[in-house]
Amino acid sequence: MKQDADIIIVGGGLNGSAAALALAQVGLDVILIDAMPKEILAAPEFDGRGYALALTSKNMLNVLGVWADVAANSCPMLDIKVSDGRAGEGAAPWFVHFDHTEIEEGPMGYMLEDRFLRQALLRAIENTAAIQHLDQTTVVDQRIDAGGVSVELAGGKSLSAKLLIGCDGRKSQVAARAGIKRSGWDYNQTSLVCAIAHELPHKNTAHQFFMPAGPLAILPLNDNVSSIVWTETSERAAEISAMNDTDYMACLRPCFGDFLGEISLKGGRYSYPLNLTLADRFVDHRLALVGDAAHGVHPLAGQGLNLGLRDIAALTEVLALAMRRGEDIGTINVLRRFQQWRRFDTSSSVASTDSINKLFSNNNPLLRSIRDAGLGLVNSAPNLRRGLIRQAAGLTGELPKMLQGKVL
Ligand SMILES: Cc1cc2nc3c(=O)[nH]c(=O)nc-3n(C[C@H](O)[C@H](O)[C@H](O)COP(=O)(O)OP(=O)(O)OC[C@H]3O[C@@H](n4cnc5c(N)ncnc54)[C@H](O)[C@@H]3O)c2cc1C
Repeated sequence: MKQDADIIIVGGGLNGSAAALALAQVGLDVILIDAMPKEILAAPEFDGRGYALALTSKNMLNVLGVWADVAANSCPMLDIKVSDGRAGEGAAPWFVHFDHTEIEEGPMGYMLEDRFLRQALLRAIENTAAIQHLDQTTVVDQRIDAGGVSVELAGGKSLSAKLLIGCDGRKSQVAARAGIKRSGWDYNQTSLVCAIAHELPHKNTAHQFFMPAGPLAILPLNDNVSSIVWTETSERAAEISAMNDTDYMACLRPCFGDFLGEISLKGGRYSYPLNLTLADRFVDHRLALVGDAAHGVHPLAGQGLNLGLRDIAALTEVLALAMRRGEDIGTINVLRRFQQWRRFDTSSSVASTDSINKLFSNNNPLLRSIRDAGLGLVNSAPNLRRGLIRQAAGLTGELPKMLQGKVL
């Protein structure tokens, strides 16, 4: 029986959208489904949310034809400064400094506002004939058999394909319906996210202050504006969220310090409760999980979306090679190649962000001396520092071709 497409993607967030473009580029027909309206998913208003994209993620967006559309709105990250802060005292005066000139490839990454990325992905999808984009459409069930997969939509209609990709986020129902279990825990931390306008230039420097309740990231956007990811205990974050803008800023200022001069709130305020979640498997018969549906990490290293783009680059390469060899792209043997490629990188990112959060998010004097010694060691060891810079740029491990900026 003829299927409706080669691939059905459930979830048209950032990862689902990028996956649809990557798979269409290698010659696959894709149906991309999201429950939300396009106008809300890609709203044009400034809202202060942004992503730190690794250099290799930029390479991939370039291959997908999206980077040219967002380049003018991106902000290169030339330096990253990490320091250990104390409650009520702001960041400690000394830090580890990661300087992009220590690697040859260029800036470690780019900050890009969420709205610019979503709009550019949507425009590219609308210009790609091989993608059928169904918004305001909810998938309620799935059935997998030897010959293919079908999904049932709210309203009763069914669609069929050779492969189902779950890009439906941390609470993935695609994974749950396939019986894929998840491990993880709640951090009892919430990230408060907003944008701050400041008097002095940020000089393309990203700052990470490790405060006892959680990290405060100050990430450069264009025009003397920075995106803030400010992590507090969930209880404290709820109190701060309930405050008016003036009181909210009065809480932020002592953590932020005065190194950027006068600061003021720009745009909306958001809050994200944090948890760790890792699917026990990323594949099943005719099914693959990508992005937060496979792994949701702590945002302290800005790695979540970067990991998702790595999944997509690896899955696309595996499927393109399988298709060219005449293999059925939905078989478990093909899909296990993707899982094998991504499992180690993902598990090590989950473990490292989790350990850094546990080591730094407290006021324990013993742990403080250990981490201060660690930061000092990193700062005085050029090879170690260069290794970490390459990691932040996404340049380590066996890189799929799209992340190297190559068309498949
Ligand atoms: C505070 C914070 C800061 C972050 N900063 C960074 C950063 O600097 N750099 C970085 O790389 N990452 C960052 N991340 C991580 C990044 O935001 C996520 O990894 C990424 O947005 C996940 O995208 P996704 O498409 O996998 O999932 P989601 O964004 O969760 O999208 C899932 C989509 O699936 C749809 N859906 C779900 N169920 C169904 C269904 N049954 N039918 C149809 N549609 C469905 C939903 O409507 C949704 O659109 C940050 C995260 C947080 C919380």
